[in-house]
Amino acid sequence: MIIAIDGPAGAGKSTVARLIAQKLGFLYIDTGAMYRALTLKALEKKLDIKNTASLIEMARDAKIDLTNNQDGSLKIFLGGRDVTSLIRQPRITNLVSDIAKIKEVRQVMLGLQRKLGKQRDSVLDGRDIGTVVFPDADKKFYLDAQFPERVKRRYKELQELGQKVTLKEVDVDLHNRDTIDSGREFAPLKKADDAIYIDTSRMSIDEVVEKISKEIKVKS
Ligand code: C5P
Repeated sequence: MIIAIDGPAGAGKSTVARLIAQKLGFLYIDTGAMYRALTLKALEKKLDIKNTASLIEMARDAKIDLTNNQDGSLKIFLGGRDVTSLIRQPRITNLVSDIAKIKEVRQVMLGLQRKLGKQRDSVLDGRDIGTVVFPDADKKFYLDAQFPERVKRRYKELQELGQKVTLKEVDVDLHNRDTIDSGREFAPLKKADDAIYIDTSRMSIDEVVEKISKEIKVKS
């Protein structure tokens, strides 16, 4: 079974996807983490962000793996090295959407995401899971929230990670990524026609998990 959870940053996707996967005993696949791992590789190799050919070659060579911890959280590996914390750095966040908009880079990730998802029952979160990666997913959800609420949540999350950021910086980051992710030519962020739309602005994580769990039970 494949459960697709898409939506913009700060809508609560990763936490909810992880909890749902844990509840069901499914694999949790954070596809954003995969694009972030590629971005880390590009930075470490000091690639020019404008040199699309070198970014494509780097993506084709990259060896990305993921595993789930007991608590459902995810570990991501780049060439066998655990990069779970490194990929949350602001320098990655600032660049990731520019790398993720490249068609050939997305094709590499698409292959990997499909391969992982076909191995086991999985919950995937991302931007294009219900539209492109698994258009036949058993259940699709699109999580959204009002912009100021998303900024507040992401700000709190980054503070908890010990990152020194201002609300204004988070506001600018989300705005930039929303614009690039929704406006790109290939696999833009958008709700699949058959996805269930959930505005999480006034909902707790538990309420969202509850709602999704009910939908999965009712319709399966
Ligand atoms: O989910 P997260 O915010 O970590 O994703 C980081 C970035 O990766 C997104 O802003 C987007 O540019 C890209 N991404 C994507 N397609 C996905 C998942 C993430 O383009 N399926």
